[in-house]
Amino acid sequence: MTSDLRPYRGRFAPSPTGDLHFGSLVAAVASFLEARSRNGQWLIRIEDIDPPREVAGSAERILRDVRRLGMAPDGPVLYQSTREKAYQDAVDWLLEHGEAYWCGCSRSDLPKSGIYPGTCRGGVGKGLRPRSIRIRTIKEEISFTDEVQGQQRQSVENTTGDFVIWRADGLPAYQLAVVVDDAFQGVTHVVRGADLLDSSPRQILLQRRLGFQSPAYAHVPVVLGQDGLKLSKRLRADPVSNQAPKEAISAALRFLGQDPPQGTGLAELWDWALANWNLRKVPRKNQIPQISGP
Ligand code: GLU
Repeated sequence: MTSDLRPYRGRFAPSPTGDLHFGSLVAAVASFLEARSRNGQWLIRIEDIDPPREVAGSAERILRDVRRLGMAPDGPVLYQSTREKAYQDAVDWLLEHGEAYWCGCSRSDLPKSGIYPGTCRGGVGKGLRPRSIRIRTIKEEISFTDEVQGQQRQSVENTTGDFVIWRADGLPAYQLAVVVDDAFQGVTHVVRGADLLDSSPRQILLQRRLGFQSPAYAHVPVVLGQDGLKLSKRLRADPVSNQAPKEAISAALRFLGQDPPQGTGLAELWDWALANWNLRKVPRKNQIPQISGP
């Protein structure tokens, strides 16, 4: 792999499916500190390409909370809802070059394994109408070194098979949009939750097909609820807006394996965090946070 000579650029890319909760705060703090401590830029992208899952007003509330907590992006916020033409161009290019194809299968046609068997690779089957668009995958393993989770390898063909890049409901798929926008924004480092670790090989495959340079990846542990399940915005996890900023940032830092001083104000806490942030201290494993205080 060639080394990336572009200036460091990181990003936080929330979907507006609910208010900022502790799980997304952890991704925001980690990506922000990693970017700033490496003299890089930090951008915010609102991933609002899935209207059925959106919660009205949550994009504005996420942005307000992120700023209130002390993280200001270097540049305007990018909204994926303004980028449909770019996703369309990418998919057209992939279709024209035979890298992607129309698929007529519906959910009920897919095997239980969830691995697409390539049914429509040679053309949409008789009696089926084209519904979604899939990328042609390969058996070869995609490997990369995650800066937190270590060496990763995956054969996309054996894990998911040819995956959907344009959905049957006419919307671009997350995997395509994220790759097009990371390239468009010049993102060199993706720091995000480990729930997306196994999406990364699919994204790297798409980057290669589209001729984009792959960013480096660091997947921080996922925040688990007391029941051991992933905290999800959609499950109405406690919004961060109910917490004092200093307590919220301090809890996020502790979750990320850092050891922030107690009894400082928010500004001093950020000064400390910028001077002492160490990605190597971030644990690999998903955890239930130990939140002290109310
Ligand atoms: N929008 C995704 C989410 O909120 C994150 C995408 C990414 O960081 O690549 O889960």
